Amino acid sequence: METLQADQTSLQCPNCAGQCLFSPKSQALDCQSCGVSHPVLDPARHHDASGEFPFDPDSVQSDAPQLTKERAHQCQACGGTVIFTARNLSERCPYCDGAVVLGKQDRGYRTKALIPFQADADFAQSQAQAWVKARIAAPNDLSAIVAKGRVAGLYAPFWTFDSSEALEYWAMYTTGSGDNRRTKKIKGRMDIHFNDLLMPASDHVTPLIRDGILHDFTPSDLRPYDPGFLAGFAAERHHQSIQEGLDANEADKRVLIRNRIKAHINKSGVHNINYQTDASGIHYRRILLPVWILHYTFKGKPMKVVVSGIDGRTFGERPFSMFKLAAYSAVISAAVTAFGLVWGATGML
Ligand SMILES: [Zn+2]
Ligand SMILES: [Zn+2]
Repeated sequence: METLQADQTSLQCPNCAGQCLFSPKSQALDCQSCGVSHPVLDPARHHDASGEFPFDPDSVQSDAPQLTKERAHQCQACGGTVIFTARNLSERCPYCDGAVVLGKQDRGYRTKALIPFQADADFAQSQAQAWVKARIAAPNDLSAIVAKGRVAGLYAPFWTFDSSEALEYWAMYTTGSGDNRRTKKIKGRMDIHFNDLLMPASDHVTPLIRDGILHDFTPSDLRPYDPGFLAGFAAERHHQSIQEGLDANEADKRVLIRNRIKAHINKSGVHNINYQTDASGIHYRRILLPVWILHYTFKGKPMKVVVSGIDGRTFGERPFSMFKLAAYSAVISAAVTAFGLVWGATGML
C-alpha cells in the first residue's frame, strides 16, 4: 500500500494542540479539547473563489490522477494508520478520532472551490424528521424509524458548466383539432447560453440530491478549497476528466436543449425534435457542495432523505402507506364530488 502525507497541523488548535473540527455554526474550526474557535482561512486567502476555467477540447489534460485503491497516512497526533480509499478526501483517524484531510496539492484533479456547511447536524436531523412527518401518506411508524437514524455530512463533487450553443433544429407541430388537425414541419436557428449549469461529478450524486435540494446555489458563496472546511466531514474527490463530466451529463443537457427549442417554437404539439449544436466557450468549475444524508430502511428497502448543507432544503424517498393513501384519495373524491355538486347547482341557475 502506498503511503501519503496529509496535513494535520492546520487542523490543530494553536492554543492547546487539540484536534479541531469544522463547525457550521461558528463557520470556523472548533477545538474539541479547549473549545476555542479558529478561522479556517487566513483572511488574506479568503478571496472570491467563484472563478471559472476555460475548457479546450483539443488540449490534452495532463492532471489525470493515477490513484491506487488505498493509501495510508500515519496520524500525526497518535501514530495510528488512517486509510484513504481512492475517492476519499477526508477521514477520521480510527484510533484518536482526529480529522485528517488531504490538501489541494495532493495528486489528482484539484477541487477549486467549495461551499462550506451552513446547516449543522441537529438542524439537518430535525429537517429530515419534519419532512417525513409532513408526507401525507407516510406510514405512522416511519417517523420513529427515521428518528433512530443519524444524518451524515458529505461534501459531494459537482461541475458547473457554461457554454454558448449555436443550434439548428428541425421539428414537427400540430395545428387545429378534430378533422382540421394538421401536422406541419418547422426548422430554425437559435442561440442558447448556459450559465452555471450544475452537474453531478460522481455517480454517487443521485438526481434526488441535485434536483431535490441543490439545483440552485450562489456562486459568490464559494470559498477556496481548504482542508479546514472538510475537517470532520466525509468528502468525495473529483475523479472525472472534463470530457468525462460533459459526457456523463449529456442526456440531461439534451432535455434542457429540447425544452428551450419547444419554448422557441412556441406552438402546440411540438414533437420529433432534432437538432445540431456547436458548443463553444465552455467554462467549468470543479466544486464540492455540502449534503446531509440520512439512510434508513423500511421493510427491508433502503431509503434516504437528503438535506442541503447550505439552506436545509429537504427531499427524500419514502414508502407509501397503502392504508393512508386509500383514506387520502377517499377524501379527495369526496371533495371533488362536493365541488361538482355545487358547480352543477350554480350552472343550473
Ligand atoms: Zn484547543
Ligand atoms: Zn490518530
